Amino acid sequence: MENCIFCKIIKGEIPSVKLYENDEMIIIKDVAPQAPVHYLMIPKVHFKTIDEMNKEQSEILGRCFYTLGGLKEKLGLENGYRLIMNQGADACQTVPHLHVHILAGKKMEEKMC
Ligand code: 5GP
Ligand code: ZN
Repeated sequence: MENCIFCKIIKGEIPSVKLYENDEMIIIKDVAPQAPVHYLMIPKVHFKTIDEMNKEQSEILGRCFYTLGGLKEKLGLENGYRLIMNQGADACQTVPHLHVHILAGKKMEEKMC
């Protein structure tokens, strides 16, 4: 997608600190961290939200989560982590390319649910 920040990061047109990459996704540091550890897991295929994804994209997303589960030590997530996916306007999604926030490195104080 033209003009998508995350597509540009995936193509290497915008620099990022990359923790992990495979054929289907990257994990990078968030540029404005909200916790001591704040990464973004970004599937390489461009779609905005889970209600817009097709079956193939849902399978890719499933594999991304499976891979993430195996990266706990590599990413320093041994003490637990919070995954957040903002979906659309009311959730304040700012980048319209589906991504998963990975937050860790402290005891989370606020719980929304
Ligand atoms: P959203 O609000 O869409 O759920 O999250 C978008 C996230 O992308 C935000 O946490 C924001 O800090 C991060 N972000 C926006 N632009 C960039 C960028 O150019 N590089 C990186 N690494 N993160 C970005
Ligand atoms: Zn994109």
